[in-house]
Amino acid sequence: MRWTKFHLYTTREVPADAEVISHQLMLRTGMIKKTAAGIYTYMPFGWRSLQKLMTIVRRELDFSGALELQMPAVQPAELWMESGRWQKYGKELLRFKDRHDRDFCMGPTHEEVITDAVRRDLKSYRQLPVNLYQIQTKFRDEIRPRFGLMRGREFIMKDGYSFHASRESLDETYNEMEAAYRRIFDALKLDYTAVEADTGTIGGSASHEFMVLAETGESAVVRCPQCGYGANVEKAETRELSKVEPGKEEAMREVATPGSRTVDEVAKLLQIPGALILKTLIYNTEKGLVAVAIRGDREVNEIKLGNALDVQHLQLASDEKVREAIGASFGSLGPIGLPKDVPVLVDRSAESLRFFACGANQDGAHFVGVEWGRDIKPETFVDVLMVAAGDGCPRCEGTLGMHRGIEVGHIFKLGTKYSQAMQCNFTDEVGQDHPMVMGCYGLGVGRTVAAAIEQNHDADGIIWPLPLAPFQVLLQSLNPSDAAVSKTADELYAGLRAQGVDVLYDDRDERPGVKFKDGDLIGIPVRITVGAKSLADGKVEVSSRRERVKELVAVPEAIAGVMERLRASG
Ligand code: ATP
Ligand code: MG
Repeated sequence: MRWTKFHLYTTREVPADAEVISHQLMLRTGMIKKTAAGIYTYMPFGWRSLQKLMTIVRRELDFSGALELQMPAVQPAELWMESGRWQKYGKELLRFKDRHDRDFCMGPTHEEVITDAVRRDLKSYRQLPVNLYQIQTKFRDEIRPRFGLMRGREFIMKDGYSFHASRESLDETYNEMEAAYRRIFDALKLDYTAVEADTGTIGGSASHEFMVLAETGESAVVRCPQCGYGANVEKAETRELSKVEPGKEEAMREVATPGSRTVDEVAKLLQIPGALILKTLIYNTEKGLVAVAIRGDREVNEIKLGNALDVQHLQLASDEKVREAIGASFGSLGPIGLPKDVPVLVDRSAESLRFFACGANQDGAHFVGVEWGRDIKPETFVDVLMVAAGDGCPRCEGTLGMHRGIEVGHIFKLGTKYSQAMQCNFTDEVGQDHPMVMGCYGLGVGRTVAAAIEQNHDADGIIWPLPLAPFQVLLQSLNPSDAAVSKTADELYAGLRAQGVDVLYDDRDERPGVKFKDGDLIGIPVRITVGAKSLADGKVEVSSRRERVKELVAVPEAIAGVMERLRASG
């Protein structure tokens, strides 16, 4: 492709509203244009990269036996009413009416549509399993669209759905999809990790997220360097925490703690470690107020808590609400003497505490010398702990590290949530009907390209991993008005194209400095530069964007040199 015939306009300025580097570089290289908040036009340079990713995705999914189809972006409300999600899905679901006043939505995901299609075709166990996928535009009215393609409102997703006659069959396909995802992210040369993810209120079966590790990632993940255990913090577990020294053995008694509200303040006043204080929080849920107690030096994981309580909405109760219900403020709360209608959940981290302190549910007062069993009837201990870096791995003797990650893919064992609600049934060998067992498999196309840039750039611009590069080779003619330079560059262009190389030929009438700056910015992996000076010696320069190793090569060897570098970079 000749640059003069291509639509590629770069800018030097860093766009003011782009916070993360991938967003800045996508705008500066003209890959995308913002059309509205969270809605982008993919310009030719950007679209080429997305298409390369989609080709790899298709190759690996087709290889694994999944079948491609295409579902509509506009979906009728009826299907969403059948699954129950018309009411449950919040404002992310963009709803509208057609001219006949019928309700529709823009598809944020396609479980309903695919389940409806499959139930009309498949009736018998003999027809199962089936694994269907599409690459398609989704719409989610995200509350905070940001970071460009990373969190858009309109975005391209590969979404796949599998249907099975048994859990074992689902397990098999799930494992194949996990392997396919690994092949995809390996092929892209991304530094990623697959971690256990929260399955939310859908149920106990498995879910894994594929995380590209990057500082700017919106997700926090823990990893054990020793055994490879990895999990989203939303779901992460830890080995039992090391025991806290018991407090002074004594009968429970009340002590005055005026003005001390935080764990640190109370610990200082009572001269005990914060870990020996039972911290109590009150949450507001759709089931009413709930008290949660946890070791004073640790935090509550609200995702785990929501799952433990089986609630959708969970929020720390306001101080007024707490005062009204309990008669004390945050800072003096404890599990002893709470109103009967406020159930107490205690995190496992507090189970081994002995002769500990907790709020007395009166402002400025705490209990000390508290014992489980003696002073508080045995409570249910649950795991609602927010795991922290340095905690013990739940699978081995290792220590967990904390990392930031960009969630690029998510695979999920759905079970029968949708098939049951929508009567997507099959008949087994003995003629009995069962809901099909389902899996679903998502991969964010634009987000993956953005994540690749987050991981592959320097101060001058993008450093494309070859498989995602919009072009493999950048051919620069430094003095296009010089006949010899133009002739050599034209010949190299033809020669590279004849070898099937994706080459961008910078034939613009621009100064060399501009061409070098643009070359660094757009980050094409291999560069070949034709300039009057070296050409006088019969040479051109071949270099790679990542290593920046330059080499003068005789013109007849230039194409072989480029091919060698392409092979080396994968
Ligand atoms: P997140 O927690 O980041 O909102 P999600 O759990 O809602 O993601 P899924 O419903 O599992 O995402 O969607 C599958 C994949 O689609 C994600 O792994 C991600 O790569 C991509 N994706 C989801 N939401 C967006 C978005 N707003 N913009 C771009 N890609 C997205
Ligand atoms: Mg989301």
